[in-house]
Amino acid sequence: AKPRVAVIFGGRSTEHGISCVTGGSVLNVIDRDKYDVVPIGIAQDGRWVLEAGDLDRLKIADRVLPSVDATLPAVSLEQRADGTELVFTEATEATDVLGHVDVVFPLLHGPWGEDGTLQGLLEMAGVRYVGAGVLASAVSMDKGFMKVVLQAAGVPTMPSIVVTAREWARDAAACRARSEELGYPLFVKPARGGSSIGISKVHDASELDAAIEEAIAHDPRVLVEGFAAGVREIECGVLQMPDGEVRTSLPAEIRIGGDHEFYDFEAKYLPGEHTEIDCPAKVDDDLLARMQELALVTFDAVACEGLARVDFFVFPDGSLVVNELNTMPGFTPSSMYPQMWGASGVDYTELVDLLIQQALSRSTDLR
Ligand code: ATP
Ligand code: MG
Ligand code: MG
Ligand code: MG
Repeated sequence: AKPRVAVIFGGRSTEHGISCVTGGSVLNVIDRDKYDVVPIGIAQDGRWVLEAGDLDRLKIADRVLPSVDATLPAVSLEQRADGTELVFTEATEATDVLGHVDVVFPLLHGPWGEDGTLQGLLEMAGVRYVGAGVLASAVSMDKGFMKVVLQAAGVPTMPSIVVTAREWARDAAACRARSEELGYPLFVKPARGGSSIGISKVHDASELDAAIEEAIAHDPRVLVEGFAAGVREIECGVLQMPDGEVRTSLPAEIRIGGDHEFYDFEAKYLPGEHTEIDCPAKVDDDLLARMQELALVTFDAVACEGLARVDFFVFPDGSLVVNELNTMPGFTPSSMYPQMWGASGVDYTELVDLLIQQALSRSTDLR
């Protein structure tokens, strides 16, 4: 029988719409002669539904992002008598069993999907899945803890502090003082976010409180970070092959222009803006080699699996800092990660297949 792949997209995070676009793209190219495909949407309220029929609607239309339709038939995860099989069941008709699932492709960004929570559910159910495991997902999702781990592994990162909603409520003045030690301008980010949502560049003291409060609205854990001045922004893809070997892609550079001060949500997803991508990036052999090596060190530092996109800042003197790694990077055909692999000789369809094959080759024991 063909392996059955559950492609899961949507989710409870603010990146719901982006994830739907990714889900639509992957469902378009996945080889149905090779795999039995089950499309599962997670609605914004957390409900799991069986997506079927017209997947064409999972696209950006008139600058509006799609979403999962919560009124579709609900599905649930069930552990059966043998304790290892995952079954999707229509909640409304207990008899309507969708069957076991061999592998899950969790195309989810942000909390409740990219952060180890779904991964934990799948580990408990003994189901293989694409991408990072529980720990790697959780550590990489939280920019505060990610930095602790990367610094311990000797990976250079920007200086930063964590401010929690509790600390802010108790003593905002102390939080301000700790932040200002980093010096303006500052970047303020929700610790567990993505797509630049909730991120502000803070030019001076007059903007700090609003930025922290904006980030707290997304996550009670907030990262306040020093500004990387005059840097090039270059990303590198990491891919684990079905035989376990880990490879790095050619990097790509993001050049921000127009009225965007940084690589914000609009610059990332909405067309007609002034962001330019150089894929592959124009880098000399020395920078290329250092970047690919540091991408691997970063991948291993968090014990990542499957895939990651490592985002760098390159200073004018050529030194590198890792801004972050994303364990489920944007994954539409035009997203950076697939583009970088395209430039490195792995096209989108093959990339999807390699990731599924890698997941299928995994042990469901401790690995
Ligand atoms: P992603 O969609 O890549 O997951 P994210 O929401 O996790 O994004 P970051 O990558 O940390 O957010 O930051 C978003 C953008 O903000 C960066 O791509 C960069 O343009 C800018 N930026 C972030 N931190 C800094 C910094 N310390 N100095 C200068 N620019 C920064
Ligand atoms: Mg990120
Ligand atoms: Mg992200
Ligand atoms: Mg980023």
